Amino acid sequence: MMRQYELVERVTGYDPGADESALNRAYVFSMKAHGSQLRESGDPYFSHPVEVAGILSEKKLDCDSIITGLLHDTVEDTVATMEDIRSLFGPNVARLVDGVTKLSQLEAMSDRAKQAENFRKLLLAMSEDIRVLLVKQADRLHNMRTLKFVRSEEKRHRIANETMDIYAPLAERIGIRDWKDELEDLSFAELNGDARTSIINRLDFLKQRGGDIVGRVSAELVERLADKGIDAEVYGREKTPFSVWRKMRRKHIGFEQLSDIMAFRVIVGTVEECYQALGIIHGQYRVVPGRFKDYISIPKPNEYRSLHTTVIGLENQRIEMQIRSREMHQVAELGVAAHWQFKQGEQTDGRQYRWLRELLEILEHAEAPEEFLENTKLEMFTDQVFCFSPKGELKELPRGATPVDFAYAVHTEIGDTCVGVKINGERAPLRTELKNGDQVEILTSKDQTPSPTWEGFVITGKARACIRRFVRSQQRDEYTKLGREIVEKAFRREGRVFEEKAVQGLLPKFSCRTIDDLCEAVGTGQYTGQDVLGTVFPETRVNENDDDKSEEQDRKNDKNEFAVPIRGLIPGMAVHLGTCCHPLPGDQIIGISSTGKGLTIHTTDCETLANFVNVPEQWVDVHWEGGAGEEGGRVGRLLVTLTNRPGALAALTSVIGRGQGNITNLKISDRSTEFFELQIDIEVSNVDQLSDIIAGLRADPAVGLVERERG
Ligand code: MN
Repeated sequence: MMRQYELVERVTGYDPGADESALNRAYVFSMKAHGSQLRESGDPYFSHPVEVAGILSEKKLDCDSIITGLLHDTVEDTVATMEDIRSLFGPNVARLVDGVTKLSQLEAMSDRAKQAENFRKLLLAMSEDIRVLLVKQADRLHNMRTLKFVRSEEKRHRIANETMDIYAPLAERIGIRDWKDELEDLSFAELNGDARTSIINRLDFLKQRGGDIVGRVSAELVERLADKGIDAEVYGREKTPFSVWRKMRRKHIGFEQLSDIMAFRVIVGTVEECYQALGIIHGQYRVVPGRFKDYISIPKPNEYRSLHTTVIGLENQRIEMQIRSREMHQVAELGVAAHWQFKQGEQTDGRQYRWLRELLEILEHAEAPEEFLENTKLEMFTDQVFCFSPKGELKELPRGATPVDFAYAVHTEIGDTCVGVKINGERAPLRTELKNGDQVEILTSKDQTPSPTWEGFVITGKARACIRRFVRSQQRDEYTKLGREIVEKAFRREGRVFEEKAVQGLLPKFSCRTIDDLCEAVGTGQYTGQDVLGTVFPETRVNENDDDKSEEQDRKNDKNEFAVPIRGLIPGMAVHLGTCCHPLPGDQIIGISSTGKGLTIHTTDCETLANFVNVPEQWVDVHWEGGAGEEGGRVGRLLVTLTNRPGALAALTSVIGRGQGNITNLKISDRSTEFFELQIDIEVSNVDQLSDIIAGLRADPAVGLVERERG
């Protein structure tokens, strides 16, 4: 285990400005916090954070990163708290330790949750600071180095698989190739030790037989190219056992058929020189047919460009070669980061990778300016969030997405029937903005249908399209159903029966193609029931004014016989509730049909009705159907006068709360020294519930007048 002074000396060696005392304090704090805890290896637990700090110091990371390495397991595994860390080491270190702790907690999720690609993105997105990710990687690297001490084979396998799927690719992504190679190799040793051993033996054998083939081939290539005036750098390297194995598996070939146990990179100045070098090499060595690929004229989707070829060279060895210019080489090594460097400004998405380039610069240069690291926030995936389903499926959504977006991303049907959501186990509003790592459980009910109000907050195209499609067809159904009821009622009142046969031939008169179209037109108010009746039975055309009285009578006497039942109402549907009188289930109601608006429901005592006395054809008898409104969600409006004294408002709201009413809006319309006048919108399921609340309010000494607002 690295001693305290060794670590401090190493850090101050490359970073003279490092806070030596903070490093010392962190070392001691971690040692005390972990106390007598042991690793499975039997080593004191404390050796682990020290090794992690050591790994980080090899990369010459800043002082805060090293301290975070020392402290990274204290909050998760000891009695130390985030507050302790903050007060002893400051907010920056606390933030980093918090970040690493959160990543560690993610590791506890089920394996299915960690579908590799998305999980990697999640880790990136959660690591708001690149240093969090680096500490996490170093942590994993040390855990892999000591994996053999873990007694449970199942656990060793799980950790190795996870490393292979998630951490090695991440290391590659952040550009630390030696971490990636080591992580892969350690996982490979655990998962398929026999294969690894035999590949290593085979590689050793070839090396012994061939001597320094790599050196000789490199030297020969450089010389031959120089003869023709091309200044080239040639790098040869043996592949790692794991990459050999991967290739054998991917191509379904045996070891002997592997052409590229050695790979050479020929790096020249320009694109022209790439092709010249290719010509020279093909002229000097025997070309293996079918192995040539030109990724310069046709680059790979990730911008990779190179010429690939395989030739039989020295001692009949097959040698794979990649020929590329220096610029292409940087792109290949650093990915999009280098590309961005070369095409700064042209590449719009290159912006996301700036941190990567900066990081590499920092790692390359011995004196790492700390503020550079400070500012190296991860900018990747800032426009996305990653959330889990209860089964651990990971969904990628645009930033700002809500549970409804999530529901539709899982399945259209889930979206259509969603009634509520639990986020991380707690009920939350459907319009809640989801955060990275949220576990989202959508509650569904087969009776639920999409609400047009969702359209106001969903942000994914799929959710929006589904909601619109549903609302449109629902609207059409509602209008059709309503229209049919209006027409049937008009016929019944004249003692006639609405027969589709009779109407069929007359459809062109209404410019409708089907009976349903006609009903829809009546439902939207384009035609009245009288219009249809009068067309089928011209003799029933009567002076509507004379009819006024009898219609009035109808409404009063035969309330339900001709009445159109009003079902559960959906905002924006053919039937809506008057905003003047806020009718509630249980209220006496009347419908007014108007062109393009469908049917508006008013309480029978609503003053607005006075505006319609001269247009009786627009009046439609309606009644609440069954236990309409049982599902809740109707809003009644109360006008309340309240004594202006402390606690009065609290008394008022508690009465409403006890009555199970949900205040959706509250407005102070008038305020004097003695009284408030309040306008309160309360969500209740029916008129009885509202009446109970009103009675409760009237009983309260703080409350003066209580009235339902009408008209
Ligand atoms: Mn750890």
